[in-house]
Amino acid sequence: MVEKACKVCHRLTEEKECPVCKTKELTENWQGIAIIFKPEESEIAKELNFKLPGKYAIKV
Ligand SMILES: [Zn+2]
Repeated sequence: MVEKACKVCHRLTEEKECPVCKTKELTENWQGIAIIFKPEESEIAKELNFKLPGKYAIKV
């Protein structure tokens, strides 16, 4: 199944809504994966405002 990216927080998911912010604003049109383990130690997480560990799209 194709993963979709949340337009709000960039989280990648296979569900119909974002597991983080519960929005249904998902898109298959995204680029680049960032896998965040420790948001507080990750420069990319700070830059893109990812607050929880997980898989994110860089461009949505
Ligand atoms: Zn989200």
